[in-house]
Amino acid sequence: MQLSTPIAKLSQVGPAYQKRLKKLGIKTIRDLLYHFPHRYEDFSNIIPISQVRLNETCCIKGRILEIENIRTWKKRMILTQAIVEDKSGAIKVVWFNQPYLTKVLKPGDNLCLAGKITFGDKGLYLSNPAYEKISQAKALIHTGRIVPVYPETEGLSSRWLRFILKPLLVKFKKKIPEPLPEKVMRDSQILPIQRAIWQIHFPDSLTLAKKAQKRFSFEELFFISLFVLREKLKISKERAISIPFNLRLIKNFIKSLPFELTDAQKKSAWQILKDLEKPRPMNRLLEGDVGSGKTVVAVLAALNVVRAGFQAAFMAPTEILAKQHFQGISKLLKKFNLNIGLLTGKENKIISKKAIPQGVAKNWRKNKVIKISREKLLEQLKKGEIDLLIGTHALIQERVRFGKLALVVLDEQHRFGVEQRAKLATSNKQQKTRIIPHLLSMTATPIPRTLALTIYGDLDLSLIDELPRGRKKIVTKVISPENRQAAYDFIRSVVKKRRQVFVICPRIEPSDKKKIEKEVLSWAEVRAVKEEYQKLSKIVFPDLKVGMIHGKMTTKEKEEIMKHFSGKGRKDKKIDILVSTSVIEVGIDVPNATVMMIEGAERFGLAQLHQFRGRVGRSKYQSFCFLFTDSPAKKTHQRLKALISSENGFELAEKDLKIRGPGDFLGQRQWGIPDLAMSALKDIFLVEKTRKAAKEILEEDPELKKYPSLRERLEKSRERIHLE
Ligand code: ADP
Ligand code: MG
Repeated sequence: MQLSTPIAKLSQVGPAYQKRLKKLGIKTIRDLLYHFPHRYEDFSNIIPISQVRLNETCCIKGRILEIENIRTWKKRMILTQAIVEDKSGAIKVVWFNQPYLTKVLKPGDNLCLAGKITFGDKGLYLSNPAYEKISQAKALIHTGRIVPVYPETEGLSSRWLRFILKPLLVKFKKKIPEPLPEKVMRDSQILPIQRAIWQIHFPDSLTLAKKAQKRFSFEELFFISLFVLREKLKISKERAISIPFNLRLIKNFIKSLPFELTDAQKKSAWQILKDLEKPRPMNRLLEGDVGSGKTVVAVLAALNVVRAGFQAAFMAPTEILAKQHFQGISKLLKKFNLNIGLLTGKENKIISKKAIPQGVAKNWRKNKVIKISREKLLEQLKKGEIDLLIGTHALIQERVRFGKLALVVLDEQHRFGVEQRAKLATSNKQQKTRIIPHLLSMTATPIPRTLALTIYGDLDLSLIDELPRGRKKIVTKVISPENRQAAYDFIRSVVKKRRQVFVICPRIEPSDKKKIEKEVLSWAEVRAVKEEYQKLSKIVFPDLKVGMIHGKMTTKEKEEIMKHFSGKGRKDKKIDILVSTSVIEVGIDVPNATVMMIEGAERFGLAQLHQFRGRVGRSKYQSFCFLFTDSPAKKTHQRLKALISSENGFELAEKDLKIRGPGDFLGQRQWGIPDLAMSALKDIFLVEKTRKAAKEILEEDPELKKYPSLRERLEKSRERIHLE
């Protein structure tokens, strides 16, 4: 048997268990050994029975004097009741609904028991303890020591896992090769794998358990760092088109804007333009709060590229945003005579200032948006006639070929690996090289430093850390249930002034009744978009125009709604109040909206709430953010207070990371990062240490020739850590 042997080969793992284990992603012996406990129970202190105390958890050793099953009519339960004694005394032991115990445990058996001492009708007793027979041959694994507790899964108890794992560990301990290079082990002073794997499952002390966890966190973070830094190294060896910094053009563009760029925008633009000048592909993340004006910076870069004779692509996460960008960017570039295309899953459009070759569009007029067929659009693109193509993921489909693409802008959380970029590369047949486009990725999610160093560590960072001047501070308030009506009155007055309102709810459908009962009270009041829409449109504001938008609607429905909310639809259909799920979170720009009302605020992360808040406050009017919560929890109120006192997305992100962990930042994307590493991402010290270790290895041996096992493991993580 080897580490790679399937668990099915283990005699104790039948088909039922194979299925359950598979659910956890456990297929091989190695997987099983790497299934770690998430906490421990300290039963290491065995005391004489005479010293047990009420309400305390204890561990005792003794002999069964008697054991029997008793049926209780009142509670319809079967109790297994035993008397256990040691030299110091005897105690009653009670188990609930486990009648089979009388078949396993017999009078005269020596037991180790761990559980809580309780007081009931019949006096003091040990309640539902973990039990284990004592024998010379076998060491204790469920009691009498620090006991591992694994994440609960149906039909897969910690007890069973301990029972399986112990012999496996004994057998394989010496066979697990150390995946970390010797040098790293020496410098980092972490536990070697063989000791760590034992101590994480069956630790000799809680300190050692912690050390073992740290070792595995280190290992995971090390590989993430190594992966990301290697990507960076690879891209730095690729070729890109060097785009000259056209100062006059840039000055012209800036002059054409209806506003003045902030210093942070200027600085970021400068960094980007400087990157574009290099014959190496840019790999830059532009990070800035919602409303900080990232788009115009990207457009400036694109203009510079296009005027140098190349093409740029601008990719948005949704169709709505792509269209919004198409309109907004066309406006920003109105004076610059460009052909700008729109390509989404369904639509192809082009706005053209330059003459369009005959036959592309019949009734073409300068400066007008026209629909053209996909075929034609792709043809134009290939010829290089379209300067800037805006769109969704459709931009990177197989059939889309650019003639001379030099820059890709990704709005909101997309990310390319070297391979994906290579797909967009143009090949230079004469020089037998491929030319990779520059990449500018933009995000409004403030990324805490540890994440920036690890998973985004291959990107250079530009920050827009100030908002355009003249924006008023958004008034943020937590509204208690009794003030709800007052808030509604206020909203009515806002709408009277022709402003608009967002209402965010945590879910789409009301949760069903059963679930509410099961998931206790906090769920009961979680508001659903559909319900809230009914309530607001029929009861609270029957005289106002209320709309609804959520992720289960079709793109077309969503667009229709957004059109009427953004004021671009028919006047009589204009929406005053938009009830929404978090779909509006990214990008949507409706400056006339001045109130953001968030239901069930406790259910969102701080960074996310901050993003919602950023949907308002985009005009000269005073804006408001109302946070509704029924949760009386102190922690909730503390968190929401942080939002009131801070307008700084980075600060909030750091707080969020501490409170909620990094899941919020990585979003729904499947990074395949194990839990341990996820929680270790909070630890800046560890993150810096692993990054340094990975860097040193790569500096010494960029191709990892000396480390074939590292390379192999990286290839595996490439499949796991997928870059969108
Ligand atoms: P985000 O960074 O969230 O993508 P946008 O690029 O959508 O922000 O910009 C938000 C709004 O601010 C847009 O309407 C844009 O025209 C405007 N804007 C951008 N930069 C400035 C500036 N320096 N001064 C005033 N308004 C600006
Ligand atoms: Mg944006």
